[in-house]
Amino acid sequence: MAPGAAIGLCVRSVKFCPGTTFCKQGKQDAVGLGLKLDEKYHGMPMPSKFKMGVSGCPNSCSEPAIKDVGIMGTAKGYTLMVGGAAGAKPRLAEPVAKELSEEEVLEAVDRIVSFYQNSGTKKRLGSFIESIGLEEFKKQTGL
Ligand code: SF4
Repeated sequence: MAPGAAIGLCVRSVKFCPGTTFCKQGKQDAVGLGLKLDEKYHGMPMPSKFKMGVSGCPNSCSEPAIKDVGIMGTAKGYTLMVGGAAGAKPRLAEPVAKELSEEEVLEAVDRIVSFYQNSGTKKRLGSFIESIGLEEFKKQTGL
C-alpha cells in the first residue's frame, strides 16, 4: 500500500466500512465509494485537516457523523453530512442531503471541497460552517 497522509492540512485517508461487499447489514457499497473518494482526494491540500467517512448502513461503523464530510448508507441511498469532528472540539456533522446516488454524492463532495478550498478560511469545516451559517453553506454548495 502507498503510505497514507496521516498529518497536515490535507484530506486524510478516507475511512470506510465493509459495506455490501463484506457485511450482511450493508445497504450501500461503502468500499466502492470510499475507494473512489480516497483515490481522488487523499492528501489533497485543504485549509485545515479534513476527514471523510463512508458507512454502508446507519449503524455507522466508520463514524461518518464525526467527519468533516460523512456519508451514511441507507436502504434508499446515501445521507450526506458535513462539519463533524472528534478530538478536542467534538462536533456532530449535520445532514444536508438524503437519498443520494453514488454519482450525486461524488458531485456534491466535489462542490463542497471546491467551495471550502476557495473560501479563504483557515477554520476546520464545522467551524467555518458555523461562521457563515448552514443555510448559506448549502446555498453556496448547491445542496
Ligand atoms: S456500518 Fe453497517 S454495513 Fe458498515 S460494517 Fe457497520 S453494520 Fe456493516
